[in-house]
Amino acid sequence: MSTGPGSGVSELLLLGPGPSNPYPEASAGLARPVLGHLDPEFLDLYQAVGDQLRAVFRTANRLTLPVSGTGSSGMEACLVSLLEPGETAIVGVNGYFGERLCEVARRAGAEVVRVEGEWGRPLDPERLLEAQRANAGARLLAVVHAETSTGVRNEVAPLRALQDTDTLFVLDTVTSLGGIPVEVDIWGVDAAYSATQKCLGAVSGLAPITFSDRAVARMVGRSAERPICSFYLDVGLLEGYVYEPHRYHHTASSVLVSALHAGLGRLLDEGLPAVHDRHRRIGELLQSSLPALGFGLVAPDGHRLPQLTTARLPSGVDDAKTRRRLRDEYGIEVGGGLGPFAGQAWRIGLMGHNARQRSIATLLGALRSLLG
Ligand SMILES: *Cc1c(COP(=O)(O)O)cnc(C)c1O
Repeated sequence: MSTGPGSGVSELLLLGPGPSNPYPEASAGLARPVLGHLDPEFLDLYQAVGDQLRAVFRTANRLTLPVSGTGSSGMEACLVSLLEPGETAIVGVNGYFGERLCEVARRAGAEVVRVEGEWGRPLDPERLLEAQRANAGARLLAVVHAETSTGVRNEVAPLRALQDTDTLFVLDTVTSLGGIPVEVDIWGVDAAYSATQKCLGAVSGLAPITFSDRAVARMVGRSAERPICSFYLDVGLLEGYVYEPHRYHHTASSVLVSALHAGLGRLLDEGLPAVHDRHRRIGELLQSSLPALGFGLVAPDGHRLPQLTTARLPSGVDDAKTRRRLRDEYGIEVGGGLGPFAGQAWRIGLMGHNARQRSIATLLGALRSLLG
């Protein structure tokens, strides 16, 4: 028996902003035999996952695949593949991940136009569209659908108006995909990225992405003197590996792709509408139970994510100490606050496999005995 770090950890209930506990089917997928990255069976598995991801993203986009790396690699793959140095990127910022989008765009050499909103409040989509009218030459407009730093859902359907402009619509669906409805084709999203360890119910290590035909044309048509600045995250090269002619690009992990395939299989067997309904009911149940324990809800009604709740701590409760006791004595992880909410609020995730009654019963029972 090993006694090193990690060896004594029994399974924790992961109710933070991700990772969440994977579906048992996804965990079983991790134990599948390793396949070579160009093995025909692995390439078939890739195609099957592409089909599942089209169903979950609600798109017919051919270029739909999991990128090796976590959600952040999906963000970078989209931005570096679509932006050339000196181009303008409009970014909505009302939380930590909007800030990160600005930073990644800046590092890709873009001029960043920020459309700021208060942390904990939704962005006004009209202000984003106004910024596009004021910067009609902007290459893309990027926004976070579900701000994991605050628990706020941004209204993004009106941004379908970008289809009538030359500005591409890039959407972060890392925390929304599999938790609340995402409609890539109906909303006219040109590029979306997600992550596997949040509402999709698999483990971290892959970032599903999808590109519209317009985004593909943009990527193919970029100037030859300024190739995509990352080799690893070049979506065109990834496409040539996953699809014909299956040109070697990197050694993708068949184990992670197997786990994702199994997790998405479970999700699609339940059905997207049923999965969304389950997240909604469980999130509302938690949110209606927290005020009686002295917690305040940060996100406004109507824009509150069911899968990620930011709750202000009751006065007198020590953030770090209480989270440590929750973890050590009850085996439950919740997330601390970010930015203006650091030390003030918790982020409680009910994502994927954890979006069920049992998670709430366990959490509330622990909180009652810790705080009561
Ligand atoms: C978690 C998250 C990311 C980053 O994903 P990683 O898997 O941590 O790299 C990006 N955007 C949002 C909205 C997130 O919640």
